[in-house]
Amino acid sequence: MTYQLDESTYYDLVIVGFGMASHRLLQELPLHSQSRLRILVLGEEPHHAYNRVLLPQFVEDCATDLSLAAVDFTRHDLSFHTGDAVCVINRREHQVQTVTGRQFYYRQLVLATGSAPVFPDFYHAVALNSPTVCGKILALRNVQDAIKIRAIAEGSHIVIQGGGFIALETAAALSTHCRVTVCHRGAYLMNRQLDQAAAELLQKALTARGITLLLRSEINGAMDSADKLQLAITGPAGVSTLATDLLIAALGVKPRIELAEAAGLVINRGIVVNSQLQTSDPEIFAIGECAECHGETVGLVAPAYQQAKVLAHFLSGQRHTHYQSHSTATMLKISGLAISSIGNVALLQQKSELEVKTMVYQDFQQGDYRRIWLRDGQLLGAVLCGDTSLSPYYQRLISQSATADTSVIETTLVADDMFNDLLFYAA
Ligand SMILES: Cc1cc2nc3c(=O)[nH]c(=O)nc-3n(C[C@H](O)[C@H](O)[C@H](O)COP(=O)(O)OP(=O)(O)OC[C@H]3O[C@@H](n4cnc5c(N)ncnc54)[C@H](O)[C@@H]3O)c2cc1C
Repeated sequence: MTYQLDESTYYDLVIVGFGMASHRLLQELPLHSQSRLRILVLGEEPHHAYNRVLLPQFVEDCATDLSLAAVDFTRHDLSFHTGDAVCVINRREHQVQTVTGRQFYYRQLVLATGSAPVFPDFYHAVALNSPTVCGKILALRNVQDAIKIRAIAEGSHIVIQGGGFIALETAAALSTHCRVTVCHRGAYLMNRQLDQAAAELLQKALTARGITLLLRSEINGAMDSADKLQLAITGPAGVSTLATDLLIAALGVKPRIELAEAAGLVINRGIVVNSQLQTSDPEIFAIGECAECHGETVGLVAPAYQQAKVLAHFLSGQRHTHYQSHSTATMLKISGLAISSIGNVALLQQKSELEVKTMVYQDFQQGDYRRIWLRDGQLLGAVLCGDTSLSPYYQRLISQSATADTSVIETTLVADDMFNDLLFYAA
């Protein structure tokens, strides 16, 4: 090893990115590691890690507490350097450099750089020709975004492009402050997580909040006109324009791999890691949304936490634990509207009746709808609207690929006290 040992800037472990995955790693390390480590966390955002999941609630109410559980500072020698992104990894020197020119040396390095939001195709061309447009097209990824969105929101009209859970939670949050339109290219909302019946319940609830839904509609372009943004929209009725104060892109995310790529690490969609979260360089690890393990990237906090735990074991010398992806429930967090989706619902809906059995319970008066997909007594997927209390149980069954008597699962689907006015059928 040729790297230079400078006591003041040398660390046993340098963590790049101070988001939810690295925060969980800092919580897990003291639980497993016996030796005292010198750890440095480098974060691009100006503050310590916070609960990103609650950003839509923060948009609705700035008093929302985003703090995460405390880290034990006593077991390791922890330092933080925030508000300064890492721009270079020099693997030969075991060194990282930040945008402001700081240099730090590592024995082992963890990349936890998360994801970046995807912007519409027209964004870059429009922004180049009309830089003022940039301030009117945002995404909700961090606290700064939330603050900017809130500054524009009061009494305005905001269009949200996308029909996934972040789009809808943001729409619901903003609907208490301004007029909101959701523009989604799919035939119904959350079409990757829900079936049509569940989506219709959701759409009814969102419409009741005054949110306008444009389905099968695509935003093809944006033009700055006076103080508004004019959006060109192609929908079932043809092409139209819609004036808005702000367009929020909620079209998904892409792992932040640029640093790793420039450092010559193996990358694909994410930074490629083995089941112990080790990249193609054995001294560099990646966890959270930037990592790709077994060909999969993650987009939810539960698997990112699981990876942090496995890595804490590994870094503490316990090499027997491996990360395995599990089916995680997508939960929609809108007050008065509980929705949970587990498994690959989009794929399951394409299967024939010969391949999978599906069972439905519905009580629309109560706003309850549940659908499950089964094969040979094995639960493959579930959609729950209204009462989602079965979600953890179904999640466990799906994750463990456990087989159960179909009639047992059927009983869970229809709770005893719900036999009145219900429609229950197997298709
Ligand atoms: C609005 C919103 C709502 C969500 N709701 C849910 C939900 O309900 N349930 C759920 O499970 N998940 C939800 N998620 C997803 C969840 O927040 C992420 O899965 C989780 O934050 C991933 O953790 P991470 O550490 O990989 O990435 P992040 O938490 O994004 O942290 C990455 C950090 O690295 C920093 N960084 C990037 N590059 C550099 C660099 N070069 N140098 C230094 N720092 C860098 C970034 O600025 C960021 O602070 C939501 C996300 C958003 C945006």
